[in-house]
Amino acid sequence: MSTIPNLTLNNGVQIPQLGFGVWQVPDAEATAAVRTAIEAGYRSIDTAAIYENETGTGRALQQAEVAREELFITTKLWNSGTRDWSGPAGRDAVLRAFDESLAKLGLEYLDLYLIHWPRPMHGSYDNVWKAFEQLLADGRVKAVGVSNFGPEQLNRLFETSSLVPALNQVELHPHFPQHELRAFHAEHGIATEAWSPLGQGRDLLTDPALVKVAEKYGRTVAQVVLRWHLQSGVIAIPKSVTPSRIRENLDVTGFELDADDLAVIDGAATGVRLGPDPQTFDWN
Ligand code: NAD
Repeated sequence: MSTIPNLTLNNGVQIPQLGFGVWQVPDAEATAAVRTAIEAGYRSIDTAAIYENETGTGRALQQAEVAREELFITTKLWNSGTRDWSGPAGRDAVLRAFDESLAKLGLEYLDLYLIHWPRPMHGSYDNVWKAFEQLLADGRVKAVGVSNFGPEQLNRLFETSSLVPALNQVELHPHFPQHELRAFHAEHGIATEAWSPLGQGRDLLTDPALVKVAEKYGRTVAQVVLRWHLQSGVIAIPKSVTPSRIRENLDVTGFELDADDLAVIDGAATGVRLGPDPQTFDWN
């Protein structure tokens, strides 16, 4: 079994650098997928209220023959119920959403809770972040962070709270490497976590430059891409429901990309996003 390194977050909590994502996995299939992942050696699982698979994910966690403290479980606050985040109801709505997620997962505490999308057109995050501060103080979550935030939204948080997000989970893969945002995170002690780290299994995995690097190491393109994430200091949470791929994606510690090949992969950037632009995204 491969050993995935941990990264230390800004509050001292450790997170495995490679985790397992379950977006688009139906609730009924989530139990089998997460069980397979844990049996393969993953210890970090990334879900969200909006994925509607916290119950199926939780079932796998109950069944796992791994102690709770060895697992790192992340879920995310969805936009609904907190539309007026600046209003007085915002804080209570967040606490209720947290309770619902925890109950579905069947857990007594979470390792990481994230604001899923910034929706900058809806005003300040004061009440959400106050609720997150309370969850942290009450020991109901080990670390709190954000997702899809840009420097502007992070600066807005810094203005009203001394609690710096432990990490920011954003779209990041060799075609969309987010260099500027990573530099901003490093400056402020925020870890970078990559969503769609494999580019959703689309054009990235057939990119000729990456295929060439993969051939050199006798590895798959997915493995080389995940290795690039690890060597770049980024946390990656690839998703698959196929047992062989779940195992393949974890088997990335037995080789090291050299500087030339890292540069080749860095050079594959297209700057094209696969997901929505967080500055305008406003689903409810
Ligand atoms: P991903 O980049 O992990 O790609 C997953 C897809 O790639 C799979 O569905 C499969 O088609 C393919 N794939 C996986 N392993 C493969 C392999 N070894 N060989 C070939 N193809 C392979 O995409 P994702 O699911 O979008 O992102 C991963 C996780 O990130 C999600 O499951 C979710 O947990 C998280 N996420 C978060 C946000 C957010 O807004 N915070 C948005 C999207 C995803």
